[in-house]
Amino acid sequence: MLVILTKSKQMKKTTLTLLFLAIITGTFAQTKVIDMHVHSYSNTDFGEREPATDHYGVKGATDAQSHRLETVAAFKKLNIVKAAVSGNLDSVEEWAKNDPENIVIKGILMFSPDDYGMTVQKFEQLVKDKKIEIFGEVAPYYSGGTLSDSIWQPYLKICEQYDIPVAVHTGGGDPGGTYSWSPKARLSLGDPYHIEDVLVNYPKLRMYLMHAGGEDWPEHAIRLMAYYPQLYTDIAVLLWVEPNTQRYVTNFLQDIKHAGYLDRVMFGSDQMIWPYAIEKSIDFLNSLDFLTEEDKEGIFYGNAARFLKLETRY
Ligand SMILES: [Zn+2]
Repeated sequence: MLVILTKSKQMKKTTLTLLFLAIITGTFAQTKVIDMHVHSYSNTDFGEREPATDHYGVKGATDAQSHRLETVAAFKKLNIVKAAVSGNLDSVEEWAKNDPENIVIKGILMFSPDDYGMTVQKFEQLVKDKKIEIFGEVAPYYSGGTLSDSIWQPYLKICEQYDIPVAVHTGGGDPGGTYSWSPKARLSLGDPYHIEDVLVNYPKLRMYLMHAGGEDWPEHAIRLMAYYPQLYTDIAVLLWVEPNTQRYVTNFLQDIKHAGYLDRVMFGSDQMIWPYAIEKSIDFLNSLDFLTEEDKEGIFYGNAARFLKLETRY
């Protein structure tokens, strides 16, 4: 059928065709996301207690499997293509075993270097066997130390040797934690400057701060990233856990954009046992008008892809 279209009709047709193409090729799907901060659990982590509620009164997952399945569903819904998952070794393995899309990057949650009966030899073997692909979340903060303490050094040496990224907790912990489960935790230990010696002693180590110094030390995070151009950070937990942390992370992102280091900031959720918080974190980041689309693409995906050497690893 021969149809002569007026210019505007032609344009309409072109628009419709593009729209159709966009829908079938998925161009309108949300940008790809890498979540640099996810935790896995075993049922022993949940116990018999009522699930904890977050700041907003939302109850957390009740067991390890439902937590994992809800999180995986969120990965799918939100186009999360890679996630740095840390927990005890068994829980991480369980996630990796049920990961047909190859999303999981295997981390390990450690507060002390001898957690899970770990030794330096065992650690090196786990790295060689690709059971540990990211060393972290390491959080000496909770056990009253810092990553610069001598007991951590053999682990860091191995990470540098095998090019394993290190993910270190910075900032404070859960309010009141020092009175309950982490009696040695002190706010001052969350200062990112405590890892400066690590950056000096292992210049080839790939390292990222978790929580960007938290509410406590955002400026120290920026200064450290200025002085050590290989250092990255995530902005996990701050994006959702309380209105107050959202206030801090908004300021942090404005400041670090102004400073010129936004291309080393990576998305992370740290949803803990609240899988809904991944979407909440993404929505919050998307709501920040001072970030351009390009800035957001970098934070959600591009910066982490570069940090992880995604093209050649995993
Ligand atoms: Zn965490």
